[in-house]
Amino acid sequence: MHVDQLDAAQRAQALAQAESDYHALLAQGLSLDLTRGKPSAEQANLSNALDGILDGNYFAQDGTDVRNYGGIDGLPEAKALFAQVLQVPADEMLIGGNASLTLMYQVIDFALRFGFHKAWNTGDSTPKFLCPVPGYDRHFSICEYLGIEMVTLPMLDDGPDMDVAEALVQELDNVCGIWCVPRFSNPTGCVYSEATLARLAALPKLAKSDFLIMYDNAYAVHALTADAPALGNIREHAIAAGTLDNIVQFGSTSKITFAGAGVAFLSTSKSNLAAFKKYLGFQTIGPDKVNQLRHVAFFKDHSGLMAHMDRHADIMKPRFDAVLSTLEAQLGGTGMGTWISPEGGYFVSFETRPGLAKAVIQLASDAGIKLTPAGATFPYGNDPQDSNIRIAPSFPSIADVQATMDAFVVCVRLATLRSLAK
Ligand code: PMP
Repeated sequence: MHVDQLDAAQRAQALAQAESDYHALLAQGLSLDLTRGKPSAEQANLSNALDGILDGNYFAQDGTDVRNYGGIDGLPEAKALFAQVLQVPADEMLIGGNASLTLMYQVIDFALRFGFHKAWNTGDSTPKFLCPVPGYDRHFSICEYLGIEMVTLPMLDDGPDMDVAEALVQELDNVCGIWCVPRFSNPTGCVYSEATLARLAALPKLAKSDFLIMYDNAYAVHALTADAPALGNIREHAIAAGTLDNIVQFGSTSKITFAGAGVAFLSTSKSNLAAFKKYLGFQTIGPDKVNQLRHVAFFKDHSGLMAHMDRHADIMKPRFDAVLSTLEAQLGGTGMGTWISPEGGYFVSFETRPGLAKAVIQLASDAGIKLTPAGATFPYGNDPQDSNIRIAPSFPSIADVQATMDAFVVCVRLATLRSLAK
């Protein structure tokens, strides 16, 4: 029953029940952790064949000895393979080291200090970035660290609220870009609609500064089911809008092969690539091409990569099912929280009633359950509504995910009913 429809006696009874359930939880002495959005060992095991796969053959298709220096933008065959993940031509790709986060940091640093066209940090106005919220904390940390002011805008079910984005880039000075996770967004799990992509691609034309769309497609191929919503092609919208120079797309195999030893890549216009390669040339003589060749040998082609992702989905789907079925069974229709059921990615994003996220997380922590700290999904760690909780079910065993969710719903019930009793 919806919590707002309970009369005083029913509410008191529900609260007493929640208190007693919570005491039972405390007595269990649990020690569980749903904070880590990282792949499980079972998922990493899917890629163990990478080890030794070259079997002494260190030569790329063009004869390059991958053990040696050079090739700052990566191997052609790696470009061809990962271009299909981002749906772009291979000659608009650059293949880097193991972390797309490094590439993102470098792109922002480059744009800030040197600029694809004009550096952001010239002039009087502090550079600003649009941050759809809730979002990915490490995007926000890059901005904070590099002195870029973050301006939040709401995330809707089909991507960022573009009405707000369009208004902000015209109203504010020096809005330099926007963070996007377009498919199975971190953490809401939403997929940007075609209409959102079209408006996003046109956004740089409304902005007063040299505007960059940081298009982090970290979960491009991370669907849980075969009929999960596809993502449109931002590049085609950008070509139509004349904004290809204003978009940098990112991806990596961190959640495909090994999170600590995968391959990261980016795609942007050829002129941007030339400028960025020059910047990279002061930092490295070339990336780890051995690992790039290993990945090509392992997947062979895009269909090999997609078949591999099906095996990830087999491991991830039961974990998501445990989260979603418990939320639905215990909290569905109660008005104690909202969530969307993602069809891919790594997270379920739960919204408590306003002002209760910290309380829920504290109750869980006291019962031995670690949840991502409240506010982590917002710039400066500040969730003004104190309502968002990011649930990351990939790493623990299914039994632990289930035990954590059983406990989580008790904490939500207790925090909600306590707040109503005040
Ligand atoms: N982008 C997003 C949206 C992520 O969720 C993550 C991992 N949590 C990353 C990037 C990190 O990617 P990488 O390992 O390639 O640095």
